[in-house]
Amino acid sequence: MENIRWSKRLPSHENAGWVHEIGSAVSHVAIGDTVILHPQITCGFCSACRAGNDMHCTSPAFPGFTIDGGMATFLKTTDRTVVKLDSSIAPKDIAALADAGITAYHAVKKAVPILSPGTKAVVIGAGGLGHIGIQSLKALTPAQIIVVERSREALELCRSWGADYTVLADGTQVAKVKDITNGQGAQAVFDFVGEGGAIEDGVSMLRRAGSYYVIGYGGQLNVPTINIIATEINFIGNFVGTYNDLVELMILKAQGKV
Ligand SMILES: [Zn+2]
Repeated sequence: MENIRWSKRLPSHENAGWVHEIGSAVSHVAIGDTVILHPQITCGFCSACRAGNDMHCTSPAFPGFTIDGGMATFLKTTDRTVVKLDSSIAPKDIAALADAGITAYHAVKKAVPILSPGTKAVVIGAGGLGHIGIQSLKALTPAQIIVVERSREALELCRSWGADYTVLADGTQVAKVKDITNGQGAQAVFDFVGEGGAIEDGVSMLRRAGSYYVIGYGGQLNVPTINIIATEINFIGNFVGTYNDLVELMILKAQGKV
């Protein structure tokens, strides 16, 4: 697999707005409709597209990175990227859900099968993505949510977003999560930080056979392979999300759940 190296174009990959013009074959949106755009323009023909895995399209374009993004007056896209919204929604209020939002939702949705009643999920970092992750966990799963965060102000807000436990990252966070989970660790850890000690902490908070969702980035994952074998822990990457993830997130937004 090649390293990801995108050249910067006119910015903005998180785009929402109103349809200004459509091609003659476009039937599911009309001029004037309020829309949010899936961040990747996909071909629709490759096997990944046909399976709904939009981010793994073999012929993609990514506004803001591989082509000019939404800071332009107009953004040209394809009918496949467009999610029609209720006209009462202001694009500026939901544009960030097009990437930050669906990335968090995408990771949480993958964990739904392992987060049955009685399970616990750790969210490391309650920032721009983490706060959507907490609300998505609340909306999609019965798991109890433990939020680990350095900011006391953010931790306060986490309670209203659905956190069952809030843990200040003051050096005692691993021990506190172990206490909350009866020494076992959590079934799922969502790492929205991915550097600065968060990875080592997060792996230590994982239960046997638990799953570690990598969302934040910058650091290195350095885990002895024997530990992965002996405990059957899993590491899962999360790259933006699918078109359907965005549609579902918009429904949760309309329902007031996110
Ligand atoms: Zn494709």
